[in-house]
Formats: sequence, structure tokens, C-alpha cells
Amino acid sequence: MTDRSPEYQKGLQFLARKGMKPLTQDIVTAESPFLSIAFNAKELCARCGSCTGVCPTGAIWVGEDFYPELDPEKCVACGLCKEVCPGGNVQYADLAEQVFGQRFIDKGFDGWVESSYVGYSTDETIRKGGAGGGVVTGLLYHLLKTGQVDGCLVTRMNHEKPWLGEPFIATSYEELCESQGSRYSIIPINALWAELRERPGKFAAAILPCQTHAFRKLQREDPELAAKITIIIGLYCGGSLEPDLTTEMLLVRGLKRSDITNFKFRGGDWPGQMQAVLKDGRVKPLHYSNYKDGAYNYFTSLYMPERCQTCLDGSNEFADISVSDAWTRDENGEYKFKEHSRLLIRTSTGTKLVESAIEANDLIVHDVTSDPSYKTHKMQTRRKGSLVPIRVARWKRAGRKVPVYDRQVPDDVTTKERITERLSSAMLRAGKFKPFRILFMGFLTSKLAVPLINIRMYLKKRKYKKRSAAKAKIS
Ligand SMILES: Cc1cc2nc3c(=O)[nH]c(=O)nc-3n(C[C@H](O)[C@H](O)[C@H](O)COP(=O)(O)OP(=O)(O)OC[C@H]3O[C@@H](n4cnc5c(N)ncnc54)[C@H](O)[C@@H]3O)c2cc1C
Repeated sequence: MTDRSPEYQKGLQFLARKGMKPLTQDIVTAESPFLSIAFNAKELCARCGSCTGVCPTGAIWVGEDFYPELDPEKCVACGLCKEVCPGGNVQYADLAEQVFGQRFIDKGFDGWVESSYVGYSTDETIRKGGAGGGVVTGLLYHLLKTGQVDGCLVTRMNHEKPWLGEPFIATSYEELCESQGSRYSIIPINALWAELRERPGKFAAAILPCQTHAFRKLQREDPELAAKITIIIGLYCGGSLEPDLTTEMLLVRGLKRSDITNFKFRGGDWPGQMQAVLKDGRVKPLHYSNYKDGAYNYFTSLYMPERCQTCLDGSNEFADISVSDAWTRDENGEYKFKEHSRLLIRTSTGTKLVESAIEANDLIVHDVTSDPSYKTHKMQTRRKGSLVPIRVARWKRAGRKVPVYDRQVPDDVTTKERITERLSSAMLRAGKFKPFRILFMGFLTSKLAVPLINIRMYLKKRKYKKRSAAKAKIS
């Protein structure tokens, strides 16, 4: 084996230091059972970047459409990429025991919560540029400026290819401001772990649920590397979107990728609008109706990757703090908290961070722990709590590869939920056909669809008004 690549030799030294041995002396193949799921069941790959990040020899890198690729010559067969991979296996009870010291499988949507707040960053730039109240960036900046971390694992749009997202380590206010806002697209942020191996210091990470699952697995498999990340700020996630979305949205608005310098998923005033920043500085809206009711909700029905369709974790259950939009509406159906985020504090690490940010006046929050109106994610609760488990069970019965979970279909599933799952799966399947999704998305985001979406919003508001009137009558 002495004639193998220098990376392979480096890998052997790495394994010796860890008291590990290669799982085979042979050159690995894509079928090797100790590689991450992407290499033998691509459809289960979350494209989280963890296999790239954990690989001690650089044998795995992020390739086309953000799927990992492998150089077998460099692979030392350590098996770490499989062990940290969240694609094929997530055991909720194990993760709960590891993070909260108690073995349980949460039947709800929010998971383990110490306290819950609605709030915003006191820095106006961070708040205005945030997806919600800029809480994620506000907390990261607080950690950075107080010296609690040396850098933050975050995302931005790629400078050379501004239609694609990329992960990076922010070490300044300016870089954090560049990372603000949501990019509803696959970004393999855990690939940054590879950089952390060589880099001294402590880091914070703002990541999605699948990426948190992988990080918790990393804590078990390579505690030395995991210890570099001292806090996880988890984003809620209703599902990411295929990277093709940006190019296709530009296409339906008559733009080429080469026309733009930036792509904003939630640019402008809250709650934001998808926008292309053109080379001459002009900002072009990419849809004409309201963001949530007219854009994002449709995209999740057309562009959601297959692995996200089988994900059960919408609230980032194993983060130290989870942050979401605060979509609560008042009795007239209007949003109650514009430019706010909602925070679920889950661990003592999370509690300390929020307390320290409040004390430094970097964050303003209202405690909503005991206020039931902050159960803001009804649709998500249904989607993750019943529709996804139904889908996973159904696909398994049909012989399709699905992730192995210890969370099963709830007992009280209704026929309506089963029909809804079928319909949403059919829509997602239809979304795999480019002409269909371009036509559908093109129409829904066009000026022609505005009256339809306005009717939908009117009906929604009427429902809220009726519900409030009924409640008032009872009390
Ligand atoms: C793919 C995706 C799906 C989401 N789905 C929901 C949902 O269904 N319901 C809900 O309430 N909230 C959802 N969120 C979270 C929500 O959009 C906001 O990110 C959250 O409310 C925090 O807002 P903020 O103003 O506090 O964050 P900001 O201060 O704006 O910071 C946002 C942070 O998110 C990071 N980020 C952006 N895009 C990505 C990405 N693709 N991968 C990893 N990190 C990223 C940025 O690097 C930054 O650190 C989702 C976010 C993403 C990225």
C-alpha cells in the first residue's frame, strides 16, 4: 500500500492517531458499504456537505448539483463519512439522549423546548437585512464581537455564480451582513468542517435540521473536530429547494444567469420578495404577488428535493437554539410581528447565548413560552407530523429506498391526511418535469396570477376574522 497517494498516507496517520484502522486495504468503490449514502443511494443524500467535511484525506468533494464525489485513490476507508451521514438514518431517541440527556421521541413538531421568544436584532442593518428579525445574524455577531467565537459557518450567494449559494466562514460584521437572509436552496455548509480541521479557534454554525443531525453524529464520531463548533443556531426548514430554481426563475422573467450579480430570495421589505440584482444595479422582482402565499409555498410544492420530502424534522429539534419566521396572525389575518423571528431555546448553551445577547442590548425579545398563539407552524406540523411519515411508510411498502427512522406514522392519521399526502406527492413528482414546473411556476409568479392569489389571501383573512368572532362569542 506504500505506493498509494500522499493523501492516503496522511489518512493512515490520521487513523493511527485516532486508534482506528482502515475498513479495507482495497481501493474502495461506490458500492462500498462504509461510504456515505450518496454513493449508493443518491436519492437519500441530503447534500449537507458532511461527508466532504469529515473526510480526513480530501477524498470527497462537493460536485455537480452539490452531490459529493469521490476519489477512491485518496479514500482511506475510515467509514467516517457514513457514520456522520444523516441521509439514510436518523434515530430521534438517540439524538434526544445525546443532546438533552433524555431518551424520547417527540410526537409534536417543536421538540424539546426550554423557553420560547419572539424578537429581533437591535442592529437596524441586521434586522432589515434578515429573513425575519435578523435574530440569527444578531446572535452570531454578538458571539463574534464578544470573542466567544472566532468565526461563523454561514452562507451567501457565490460571487462568480450568483445564482448558486455557497457556504463560508464569516469573521467580521461585513461578512455576516453578506450572509443575512434565507437562501431557499441546497447549500452543503457542513463541507466547511474540512477547513476547521486546519484552523484554530472556536466557531458557531447557523444550519438546517439535516446538517444539525450530521453535526450531532460528528460529536460522537470525531469529538475533537466537533468541539471546534461550540453552538448550533438551527433554522427551521420546511424543505430546501433544488438549485435549478434560480436559473429557471430567471428564465421565466427573460433573464440569463450572466445578467445578474446577485439573487435575493427575500430581498426588499419584510417578508421579502425574490429579486435579481442586475449588472447595471437595477433590482428586478421575480414574482409579483406576496412572498409567502404567492411564491415560497408553491416552490416547495415543485422544487423540493427527494430527501427533503422524507424529512421529519422541521424545527431543527437538536439545535441549541432554533429560529423561525414569526408567522402568527392577528384577528384580522394580518401578521402580528413583522420583521421578527421566533426562537426556541433548547439547551443551556442556547439559554446562555440569548441571555448574554439581551444583556448586551443586541437582542430584544418577548417571552411567549406560555402563549399558545405562538404555535405558528400549523401547516408544517401537519406536513412533518403526519404527511411525511405516511409518505415514508408508503414508499417503503412500494420498495423505494427511504431513511430509517425510529419515528413512525401516528395512530390517528385521517383519510383526509392520506389523500393530501398523495396529492402533494403527485405535485412533487410533476415538478420533476421541467416544462411542467416552468409553466406552472411561470404562471403563478406572473402578474396574471396576482388576482388569484389575492382571492386566496382574502379567503385566508376571512377565515381568521370568522375564527376570532367565534372565539369572542364563546368568551
Ligand atoms: C431552506 C430553508 C427553509 C426554511 N423553511 C422555513 C419554514 O418552513 N418555516 C420557517 O418559519 N422558517 C423557515 N426557514 C427559516 C427562515 O427562513 C429564517 O431563516 C429564520 O426565520 C431566521 O431568520 P433571521 O432573520 O433570524 O435570520 P437572518 O439573520 O436573516 O440569518 C439567516 C441565516 O440563515 C443562513 N442560511 C440561509 N440560507 C441557508 C441555507 N440554504 N442553508 C443553511 N443556512 C442558510 C444564513 O447563512 C444566515 O446565517 C427556512 C430557512 C431555510 C434556509
